[in-house]
Amino acid sequence: MRLVEPTSSWYRTESVMETPSLARELNAEADKLLACVHCGLCLPHCPTYAALGDENDSPRGRLYLMRAVAEGRLSPDSRAFVRHLDLCIGCRACETACPSGVHYGHLLEVARWDIVRLASTHDRGLARATRFVLNHLFTSPRRLRLVLGLVRWLRDRGLIELLLESGLLASLPGRARKGLAMVLATQPSGPPVAASPATHSRERSIRVALFAGCVVRELFAHTNRATERVLVEHECDVDDPPDQVCCGALHAHAGERETARRLARRNIEVFEREGYDAIIVNAAGCGAMLKEYPALLADDTAYRRRAEAFSARVRDICEFLIERGFRPGPRRLHVRVTYDAPCHLYHAQRITDAPVQLITQLPGVEFVPLPQAEVCCGSGGIYNLLHPELADDILARKLTAIRSTGADIVLTGNAGCLMHIGSGARLAGSSLTLLHPVELIAQTY
Ligand code: SF4
Ligand code: SF4
Repeated sequence: MRLVEPTSSWYRTESVMETPSLARELNAEADKLLACVHCGLCLPHCPTYAALGDENDSPRGRLYLMRAVAEGRLSPDSRAFVRHLDLCIGCRACETACPSGVHYGHLLEVARWDIVRLASTHDRGLARATRFVLNHLFTSPRRLRLVLGLVRWLRDRGLIELLLESGLLASLPGRARKGLAMVLATQPSGPPVAASPATHSRERSIRVALFAGCVVRELFAHTNRATERVLVEHECDVDDPPDQVCCGALHAHAGERETARRLARRNIEVFEREGYDAIIVNAAGCGAMLKEYPALLADDTAYRRRAEAFSARVRDICEFLIERGFRPGPRRLHVRVTYDAPCHLYHAQRITDAPVQLITQLPGVEFVPLPQAEVCCGSGGIYNLLHPELADDILARKLTAIRSTGADIVLTGNAGCLMHIGSGARLAGSSLTLLHPVELIAQTY
């Protein structure tokens, strides 16, 4: 598949729309913000509050800080605002727990946007490097393919594993070892996906597009192959538009909202060229972002309606298979599995039952429920690289829960969670296998 480098006009020279401030955005959301009755019901669901025990690291505390900035009582440059907003994983467990319907995730993105634009103390060291990578690597499929292609080459030749196990990295920061272990977690661990059948017992009836993802396309090609195979088994003609770009989730979560908007406009243009019946995504973080393009482009009169039409067709692969009428293959697998729910599937997209409904229909699969499967693993996109100690502390609880199931395989539907849990298990000396549910489904055909 050839990737087409976006022309310079779509990314570099596009005019930047006027950007509303946090105060104006919060005013627009006043009914939702004022709906916060400070009840604290969200607090027990917040992983950073559980780990740190500080009200400022809870949803309620962060909402207080946002209101203080919006009302001019606190500078967006203040250490408290930057620090406590920065420590939020963005898991959105507080949203599903909130009885008042506070749109925390949206407010968080806008608050971080203000930090990036207004807080000079934020633009240093790691934050500056992160901005550079997001704005100059993840916006260019060609550059990303070059970098991740090299990573994949090193991975597939065993050089990363050699480096990690040689002890040469013992003196390096934990972040470096974590990064290498995350790369190893992207290695295919199931059998290769069998070729799609040449003929079908039923006529293929719908045409779908695969949102292939940027990191997923380069490091999880096996997951995309499994997704295509399963879709074909469900009478889908699968297209993979070559000029699609990153969904923009990492950018939106990091406060790079204008870049996220440019990426969103590009994807809308690419996918609306063909009249696809559905746009299928197998990474929960990407899926949540694609479904939220209407909110991201709400003040863009040229794209708002197009964003709504685009997002209405986006389906997570698990959600789609249930809607389509799931038909697993006949091959028995003889495995004991558990399932960890990605936050951006469970809390952001509210897809809570579909993955388990699929898994429990697979022949020969023993399913063991994971205690607190809906609690964040600590991944948070690149959160685990920015805040490795806190992310690993949260992950330790998840690994303990996983061990209690006695499962050989952990299923999860998001590349970031898979890399975070897989790397944590590896660094802890565990031989746990991690798969996307669709990879296990593909093995039954
Ligand atoms: S965000 Fe919702 S759950 Fe949390 S304190 Fe406010 S009203 Fe209560
Ligand atoms: S998004 Fe997650 S980490 Fe952030 S305040 Fe809500 S529950 Fe806590």
